[in-house]
Amino acid sequence: EAKHNGKSSWERFAPQMKELSHERLQMESRMRRALELDEFELWYQPIIDAATGRVTGAEALLRWNSPVMGLVMPDRFIPLAEETGMIIPIGRWVIEQACAAAKRWEEATGTALNIAVNVSPRQFRDPEFVSSVQQILTACDMPADRVELEITERLLLDSSIEAATILQELDATGIRLSVDDFGTGFSALSYLKSYPFDTLKIDKSFVADVLGADDNSALVRAIINMAHSLSLTVVAEGVEEAAQATFLSAHGCDFLQGYHYSRPIPDADFLAWLRIR
Ligand code: C2E
Ligand code: MG
Ligand code: MG
Ligand code: MG
Repeated sequence: EAKHNGKSSWERFAPQMKELSHERLQMESRMRRALELDEFELWYQPIIDAATGRVTGAEALLRWNSPVMGLVMPDRFIPLAEETGMIIPIGRWVIEQACAAAKRWEEATGTALNIAVNVSPRQFRDPEFVSSVQQILTACDMPADRVELEITERLLLDSSIEAATILQELDATGIRLSVDDFGTGFSALSYLKSYPFDTLKIDKSFVADVLGADDNSALVRAIINMAHSLSLTVVAEGVEEAAQATFLSAHGCDFLQGYHYSRPIPDADFLAWLRIR
């Protein structure tokens, strides 16, 4: 076919690739400007103590409020931010903002809340990552044990990252570490023992049909028991119904998070939500 119209396959693909890379370059420079122009926002979703029903903290979730594109969800720009390395300055901004927010809530309500932040594997390739996190905690006067970094199993699959070393360094600062989206990765479970994780977050896909007829409820119970036997705290994400919350607490799940309690909401709304609760 390439010969047919007198073009090599490269030439036929080239315009498409050029367009793609143009779009990517455009997105990259938009992200860079977005950081300068303060277009990123953190929204917060409460995390509830299953035993007491109290709010113990929140997860910070990134949004891009773009004048051009509207409110952009993380799944649409984080992959490119990772590829381009923009996730490094964005990720620092996220940790700073999240810690500052937690301090503000504490001042406003008198309650010390924990804050959970998502971290991409790419951020672990930044040689300054651990020291930058420490600097932020010091600057915010934020106790390390109130900050949790959420990491997915993807990190452990990336052979270019010295995950074990960096996780140990983070652990030594007193920061808490959690495995996000547990159950969706490669799950060679032995890693749970060899890395200093504190928390396991059961992926919402398991929580969704915990009350279904199939064996997902057995699976979730097994995950909770396994986590506890490794001294890990368990959070269920994606809790949308009271019956799911009841099931999860009855089987010892420690913390609950999901639309049943609140969707992720902007900072000001989160403080209002805390006050009326
Ligand atoms: P995640 O860390 O697993 O966050 C949970 C996602 O589930 C969030 O989507 C949240 O809005 C959604 N969710 C919460 N409760 C429920 C529920 O009851 N039902 C359903 N169906 N969904 C629920 P969101 O905010 O779109 O974030 C998607 C992903 O983007 C996050 O998944 C995380 O992997 C990534 N992400 C978000 N913020 C950041 C960030 O600051 N840095 C990095 N590196 N990644 C981030
Ligand atoms: Mg998360
Ligand atoms: Mg630890
Ligand atoms: Mg998750």
